[in-house]
Amino acid sequence: MFPTLTLTEAKGRQWDMIIAGSSFSAMFFLQGLPKGLSVLVIEKGRHMTHEEQITTGFRNLEDVPMVNTSPHQKEWVLHTLLGGNSNCWWACTPRFHPSDFRMQSLYGVGEDWPLTYDDLAPFYQEVEEAMDVNGGGSDHVLPRDKPFPYPAHLPTRSDKLLRAHSDMWWAQPTARANGGPRAQCCANGICDECPIDSKYTVLNSFDRLAYDGAHLLTEAEVRAIRIEGGRATGVQVRSDGTEAEITGSAVALGANALFNAVILLRSGVDHPKLGVGINEQVAQNVLVDGPGLGYFGGTSVTGHGYALYDGPHRAEHSGVLMETYNAPMELRREPGRWGERLRMKIIAEDLPRDDNRVVLRGDDYVIEWAGHDDYAWRGLEWGMEQLQSILPDGLDFWGFTEPVKTEKHVMGTHRFGTDPARHVVDPDLRVHGVAGLFALGSGVFPTSSLANPTLTISALALRAGRQVE
Ligand SMILES: Cc1cc2nc3c(=O)[nH]c(=O)nc-3n(C[C@H](O)[C@H](O)[C@H](O)COP(=O)(O)OP(=O)(O)OC[C@H]3O[C@@H](n4cnc5c(N)ncnc54)[C@H](O)[C@@H]3O)c2cc1C
Repeated sequence: MFPTLTLTEAKGRQWDMIIAGSSFSAMFFLQGLPKGLSVLVIEKGRHMTHEEQITTGFRNLEDVPMVNTSPHQKEWVLHTLLGGNSNCWWACTPRFHPSDFRMQSLYGVGEDWPLTYDDLAPFYQEVEEAMDVNGGGSDHVLPRDKPFPYPAHLPTRSDKLLRAHSDMWWAQPTARANGGPRAQCCANGICDECPIDSKYTVLNSFDRLAYDGAHLLTEAEVRAIRIEGGRATGVQVRSDGTEAEITGSAVALGANALFNAVILLRSGVDHPKLGVGINEQVAQNVLVDGPGLGYFGGTSVTGHGYALYDGPHRAEHSGVLMETYNAPMELRREPGRWGERLRMKIIAEDLPRDDNRVVLRGDDYVIEWAGHDDYAWRGLEWGMEQLQSILPDGLDFWGFTEPVKTEKHVMGTHRFGTDPARHVVDPDLRVHGVAGLFALGSGVFPTSSLANPTLTISALALRAGRQVE
């Protein structure tokens, strides 16, 4: 753990870098910084140990104000505590697909990212090593120069059956341990509060994240950035009812896609796309029955289906990514056949819409939510239609749930690119037009991909830290 300061102590210094937030984006940015800087990490939440979290179940979930004019229920899941959502994430760690970075060039949809899969690949690898990601060798559906740090978890009986039918089924890469210093995953299916601390979290990795010169200020909310003469010169902080200013030569926001946008708006950063385009992938759980299906895999989410992910269909609607579960949440009732059921999740890509946005409301903020883009809904519908055709004979896709209220992957509120007129942030995650100000995290994603975002958030943050001189 970094040395923790009081507000008075933190105020008394001029910092080289101030970072808001203490989760993936903040910590991997810190890792990338050149050595020797004085860095203050300011975290709004408090430090709850792993033991305290699992014994009390308390997580400090944000109550997110929203005006939802869509016909569907919607939720946003953000926790305010040291380590942010790393405490409760499920630690699925896929890379994005190379095509995800080039959606406009390939399919005429959305925007291209200002960098490619190849640009990010070395940073993906570094983050995978830092998180002890498991997934197998170099042979993978997505290009890899090196093997995953650890071998893939044991597949379930269902995964073996699917894999024998099609080579588009792969092991889900995860940071739920299958080798390395943390306890081996026990596949209990309650990963959001992993009782044995097996998955990667910021809290269980502080020692490896060590940075000489980094200090921590907890229970202090960064309200706004002080901007003078086009340069970030510090932050305004609220802590225990006290308002204070802390000065620094540079500021990085790692408070997630929602709160980064709120802080930037409150700081007077004036950009027509700031807060605009908030989005999340959309998903449905589906059920498949049949002989030969079954559990006994090495972790909770074991398989990944890419057959419907990429291809010309993405010009018309989203593709779908499939995840297979080892957690026996939906058992059959027939004697002797309890395990012959596969629970799968199918996930579609959303597109940013101008009418989904975060705006300030007085001292506070609100999300104006008009709904997921039709591109995502059409993709889910198409995925359902295709599903039976990609299953082996004898397996019967029969049931599905309502779309989930949230994939818990908020994105797109300060998208990045090279054009200051259209993009809030540049390719190195610096806010256009404000020197010394970085906006990290999935707020920068121009398009959402179908895959879980956190490995990409972390790789981008690490890369941005490396650009700092
Ligand atoms: C239940 C659950 C399961 C998930 N599973 C997966 C998964 O398997 N794979 C995956 O890729 N992703 C998963 N995610 C998403 C993942 O958790 C996020 O993508 C990731 O945590 C985002 O990291 P971040 O650094 O941007 O911000 P966060 O993790 O959201 O952290 C933001 C931090 O900033 C702090 N903060 C907020 N406002 C301020 C402020 N004003 N001043 C100072 N500090 C502030 C917060 O307290 C928090 O510590 C899951 C999320 C949830 C909720």
